[in-house]
Amino acid sequence: MTTVRVETRPRPYDVVVGDGELERLGSLVRATCAAARLVIVTDRTVAGLYLDRVSGTMEQTGADVSHVVLPPGEAQKTLARAEELYGVLYERKMTRADAVLALGGGVIGDLAGFVAATYLRGLSLVQVPTTLLAQVDAAVGGKVGVDFRRGKNHVGTFYQPRLVVADVATLRTLPANERRNGAAEVVKYAFLNGGDLLERVEAALSSPDEPASDPLAVCAADIVAECVAYKAAVVAADEREETGERHLLNLGHTIGHAIEAAGGFARYSHGESVGLGLSAMLWLSHRVSGLSGTDVERGERLLAASGAPSRLDDIDPRTVADLVRRDKKAVGDAVPFVLLEGMGRPARGVQVSPALIREVIAWLAAR
Ligand code: ADP
Ligand code: ZN
Repeated sequence: MTTVRVETRPRPYDVVVGDGELERLGSLVRATCAAARLVIVTDRTVAGLYLDRVSGTMEQTGADVSHVVLPPGEAQKTLARAEELYGVLYERKMTRADAVLALGGGVIGDLAGFVAATYLRGLSLVQVPTTLLAQVDAAVGGKVGVDFRRGKNHVGTFYQPRLVVADVATLRTLPANERRNGAAEVVKYAFLNGGDLLERVEAALSSPDEPASDPLAVCAADIVAECVAYKAAVVAADEREETGERHLLNLGHTIGHAIEAAGGFARYSHGESVGLGLSAMLWLSHRVSGLSGTDVERGERLLAASGAPSRLDDIDPRTVADLVRRDKKAVGDAVPFVLLEGMGRPARGVQVSPALIREVIAWLAAR
């Protein structure tokens, strides 16, 4: 078990990462934010697997525990669903001393987190992420929100949880495609951090009995904990995305987000889009920020082993390039990227010309 402290102000919080931590969730919650009433928000799939266990351990804290089970999927992240949840909290007579526990993937964490942040101007929030993507990314750092019209996470805020408990045992029931979704993010941290994490992720993904179609070996507590530690340090340096430090976490995401949107959020998952975005980032880093050919090859090997798609298919590269240039951080014609100077040596705010952006996306589609 590893505890990573996230040094946010005025109150820091812990991310507990381990294998089997769900069993002691009750005592972990009691030690940090004892609440008289607790509402667990989860989805149907996760409820079938873990709700009884989580309710049981929470009841041992003496809290009055109830739950809400939603259908799975991104379509739940709406203001209408948030309003329904406000209704549940109202019926249960929740006060600011009470807590919401988000049990599930990023969808549940974002939605329940948003509701906890806004109901009575803020209830205690406990995040119990059960997808690899949510454990290494969404559940840490306080971004909560819902989708609005065509905008993903368009309505939201920063609201830090009181506690995050990431139990990697829950990742064993995750479908392989959901594990790949998170594996792309793990590879991102490996590139950002370099060193020991990079080597561990390489070792995990090159294990002979680990087909690229299912990166189960990266769902290990030590790897998840190191990814969380990287994110925690960045979040502490730039809690509300103001100083720019937090942009580091966008490695591979400028082109990745554009691919995800160009495919209507259906052709490629977030992880697949980020995998392609990381390939583009390696290509650009070699040309713009001096990443060596050896490191490009090393990065490409890792991406392939994580199950990332090898090529951009079924999407017009020009659509992707147009979306990149509409990135909210674009200044005039040039778009600032996070690129690598070496493994573990990211550089922020590197301006990349529209011509080079078109070129790298054409390369992704043609290779
Ligand atoms: P994310 O944004 O983290 O990828 P979602 O909240 O959309 O995740 O969850 C992805 C899917 O995986 C959902 O259908 C959810 O019900 C399911 N899921 C989440 N956690 C688990 C788990 N531990 N085991 C099996 N399925 C899970
Ligand atoms: Zn991401």
